[in-house]
Amino acid sequence: MIIKKIQYNIFACLLLLGIPAAAQLQPDAKPLIVTSIKPLAIIAKSAVGDAADVQYLTPPSQSPHDFTLPVSALRKIADADLVIWVGGGFEARSAKTMSALSSDKLLTAMDLPLTQPQNSEPSDNDDHSIEADPHLWLNPDNGNKIAAEIQARLGLPPKEIINRQYLSRLKSELAAIDDKTYLSHHQAYAHFAAAFDLKSGLSIRNASGGAQGAKTQYRLRSSIEKTNVSCVFVEPQYQDKDAAIIAAEYDLPMVPLDPQGLSQTISDRAYSEFIGTLVAQFKACFQ
Ligand SMILES: [Zn+2]
Repeated sequence: MIIKKIQYNIFACLLLLGIPAAAQLQPDAKPLIVTSIKPLAIIAKSAVGDAADVQYLTPPSQSPHDFTLPVSALRKIADADLVIWVGGGFEARSAKTMSALSSDKLLTAMDLPLTQPQNSEPSDNDDHSIEADPHLWLNPDNGNKIAAEIQARLGLPPKEIINRQYLSRLKSELAAIDDKTYLSHHQAYAHFAAAFDLKSGLSIRNASGGAQGAKTQYRLRSSIEKTNVSCVFVEPQYQDKDAAIIAAEYDLPMVPLDPQGLSQTISDRAYSEFIGTLVAQFKACFQ
């Protein structure tokens, strides 16, 4: 009876202190990593394997560009040992919550010394306002760099999450298509194109998924007429209405491409599989 009462009191104290009881009462509970978007969870799980639990906040069916954190997400962030997000330039609506976290709990991917697309020649349709592409997880080099930082934070030995040999094989598979171009839903593939030596394609929307002005849309249409566009990529998170209109207008096939890893299982091989799937989806445009 007394023991039960003591247990109850400890539990009540922990609740009052806002400490998750489960984590306190099980000394060997794994650390919890919470990421803002699924691609970062794919990287984190590949980096840590069984050494930590990994969860993500944005439902993968939703565009991360305009996602607002619900109360359930705030609870997960409070419970987490490490929180990983891309950064304020990408997830503007989460910036206030994230900036309140201590620097040893928060990992901002954008702040790491990542590989940036060098040869991103300004395409005709971006109205000379060249936005930095925040979809940095699509360059496997960056995947490995983010993984290394996660491993260091957790005191794990460094281990690459995608193998260089596999990467050069994927690169050679894509080498055959370098004279053709593509049209994407939004400007999301500068990192991917740089990593695999591909041309930067045309895009209907800007890097944040926003609609372009009339002048830019006019330029896009004249670019489509001038270049050898093979397909229009459509992403599962977005309504493909504008893509469907252009595809019909220029008689181009619509090909699914999934930069958020919607159908990817979270496992210790997830990142390698995710990049492999993306390359296969990309190649389908040119077949
Ligand atoms: Zn995007």
